[in-house]
Amino acid sequence: MLTPAPRSLVKVPFLDLAAEHAPYAVELRSAMDAVVLESAFSGGPFVEQFEREFAAFSAVDHAIGVGSGTDALWAALRAVGVQPGDEVITVASTFVATVEAITRCGARPVFVDIDERTCNMNPALIEAAITPGTRAIVPVHLFGQPADMDAILAVARRHGLAVVEDACQAHGARYKDRPVGTLGDAGCFSFYPGKNLGAFGEAGAVVTNRADVAGFVRLLRNHGQRTKYDHVLDGWNARMDGLQAAVLSVKLPRLAAANERRRELASAYRRQLADLPVELPPEVPGTRSSWHLFVLRVHGRDAVLASLAERGIQAAVHYPVPVHRLPAFASLNVTVGSLPVSERYATEFLSLPLYPAMPDSHVVLVGQALRSCLADHASVASRAA
Ligand SMILES: *Cc1c(COP(=O)(O)O)cnc(C)c1O
Repeated sequence: MLTPAPRSLVKVPFLDLAAEHAPYAVELRSAMDAVVLESAFSGGPFVEQFEREFAAFSAVDHAIGVGSGTDALWAALRAVGVQPGDEVITVASTFVATVEAITRCGARPVFVDIDERTCNMNPALIEAAITPGTRAIVPVHLFGQPADMDAILAVARRHGLAVVEDACQAHGARYKDRPVGTLGDAGCFSFYPGKNLGAFGEAGAVVTNRADVAGFVRLLRNHGQRTKYDHVLDGWNARMDGLQAAVLSVKLPRLAAANERRRELASAYRRQLADLPVELPPEVPGTRSSWHLFVLRVHGRDAVLASLAERGIQAAVHYPVPVHRLPAFASLNVTVGSLPVSERYATEFLSLPLYPAMPDSHVVLVGQALRSCLADHASVASRAA
């Protein structure tokens, strides 16, 4: 949800991909030219090369390029054995795709609440959600902050459940110095343009150390086809484009520095906002966030969002409605109030502009604007009292 300010009034945009790509536009263009010259448009050598590079970056045996992060989640869930009628435990405080991937497998999403501090799956609540029908757990490394994987993996191990990590916002994030996405049975990444590693369209990947899972995903993404017209699985067209892979190969070597820049900006925000009446995003010890988003929590969020927009600051909300409250998932009949932290935080989350090419001066502008919005609201509130 972006604020609807007319573009001409935006002083600080939420994201500026053109500024990110400008310094190496020539390299990006020649990578795309190479794909055109070889007509390697669907799968092929550019995809295979990116898969090798992304596996090396993730320190994992297999990376399989697919059409999107949503495809990655669907294929990984199928590959770890999720069947129609199974239950899959996840969170409602996420992007809708996490849940769509579960229902697309014919499985039923079962939500546990998030932890008040990390804003990620609360591992203490998982055990009570497990039934004989439970097959897998899908933790989400939301906003780039790694979930509490040791605790989640311990519960999964005790109950023989698979763990599929939704790392779609967490490229390069680390949990106890290990790359996220490689801690469970499979990890899923999105290369949607706005992600930390973004393509020029739709793309995604599954990473895994399990050869069986990798083989299954490779079949699934290509109509379950083993050799030409020998379809051994009910799959889908979930292949990666050669053009996307070539762009991603140019951008991957820049990811670590880009994440470092995000970290710097996040620290600058922290200093700017330290004395304001807001909850700043946590830096959980033993983890390294990818800082996909800088999400704070504030009372009266919608009013703050609107006054930031009036001041030319394009903030956003991830996500205004937890998945169990969306009309699309009404049939799951999740009781209102049963996920109290997810429901409350959805009214408080506010994402500030953050992207690697963002100038330092914009952090200052956002800080000043937020300060003056909150002062206005405080004086309105005290007049009303
Ligand atoms: C972006 C995202 C997805 C889906 O990725 P697409 O590439 O857009 O299909 C899934 N989960 C989370 C948490 C995401 O942020």
